[in-house]
Amino acid sequence: MWKVWRFLALILPLSCPLCGENLPDRRRFPLCRECFESLRRKDATARCILCGVRITLTRSTVCLSCMKDPPPLESIHVYADFSGTLREAIRLMKFSRNRMISRSLAELLSDLSLPPVEAIVPVPLGKGRLAERGFCQSYQIARHLSRRFHAPVIDDLLVRSRETAPQSLLPRKERIRNVRGAFRLNSRYEREIPLTVLLVDDVMTTGATIYESARTLKKAGVRTVHALVLARADIS
Ligand SMILES: [Zn+2]
Ligand SMILES: [Zn+2]
Repeated sequence: MWKVWRFLALILPLSCPLCGENLPDRRRFPLCRECFESLRRKDATARCILCGVRITLTRSTVCLSCMKDPPPLESIHVYADFSGTLREAIRLMKFSRNRMISRSLAELLSDLSLPPVEAIVPVPLGKGRLAERGFCQSYQIARHLSRRFHAPVIDDLLVRSRETAPQSLLPRKERIRNVRGAFRLNSRYEREIPLTVLLVDDVMTTGATIYESARTLKKAGVRTVHALVLARADIS
């Protein structure tokens, strides 16, 4: 039934793409109120400030694995877990290339308190996948955040130096190898590298892609890298 609704919602112009409810003003409100509210996190979970994993020892802000082997960034901000309605909405955004949904999703992030940065940088999609999908969801989210946090988006600061296999098809260890050296700094910016950057992505799983992006930025001279992800998925 859910699938039927989703299909209908994509072809019917005036309905909420998540539940099929009628929407009188879809241009301004791409999701119905109820679905939008259900995307909102109920409370902020205590998470490791470096990898976003949930932590139970509330006295510490860093998890044990990051204490042993800290990732190459200053902080990571995770909005919520990749589950429930949020997961549906993110999938729908990718699947239907729905820019309106990306606006709603970015709106959720506007309540976060983020450190000031000089530039917002979306984690780049591979050329192949960008052409296939014609839509870069991390760029869409970054663009909306730019207005809220008053920092420009530099969507070509990082470029892919080679194509990689889709991370979702690989086990954890291979994901790290798969993206090693996959990015480089665009030579256009060599003389004007922003010193503080906010990396943006929609979903984080192992963090391999975000960490490799951060590592590349730091090698190129960026001093401080923060990251923001809409949702964090857990894989073992
Ligand atoms: Zn709805
Ligand atoms: Zn951690």
